[in-house]
Amino acid sequence: MKLPDITILDEFDKRLRLISEEVTFPLLEEDKENIKKMLEYLKISQIEEWREKYDLRAGMGLSYVQIGIPKRIFVVVDEVEENEFENYVLINPKIISNSEELIYVGEGEGCLSVNREVEGIVPRYARITVSAQDIEGTPFTIRVREDLSIAFQHEIDHLNGILFVDKIDPKNPYKNANIMREI
Ligand code: ZN
Repeated sequence: MKLPDITILDEFDKRLRLISEEVTFPLLEEDKENIKKMLEYLKISQIEEWREKYDLRAGMGLSYVQIGIPKRIFVVVDEVEENEFENYVLINPKIISNSEELIYVGEGEGCLSVNREVEGIVPRYARITVSAQDIEGTPFTIRVREDLSIAFQHEIDHLNGILFVDKIDPKNPYKNANIMREI
């Protein structure tokens, strides 16, 4: 497998702070190409052999702004079985409902734009329903839970210029752990 030629912005790049813009259809060919590249990159990053070959960190999601294009698009690649992947492409996503229950990643969230270990809790809804459009512009809704729910919320934050590290109180990184479930 060949690593797609995309450059992922680092957390200190100001472009990551832009509010991404709504996407109109039909998509540009260039956008479709970039979506393919982002999906491929994530898949490669999740296969140990290739991750090591290309010296990558494993990533589950990427938002379009992370490759420098502030449009409301994100992709998530979920390994459902060993080396079997489910791809998600969401364009103009909106969270239309959420659970009351909150969860967090015990070992800490990660981000392909944040090249350091950051400890602390990022509160996320355990379940959300999201409306979005696919690459043809067709609307759909999707309900996700647990790690997929966290990934979707993490990526939607990117579209609003927010990084997971913003949500951690450095003085008290495990604040409110008692009212949330660790996954
Ligand atoms: Zn991220």
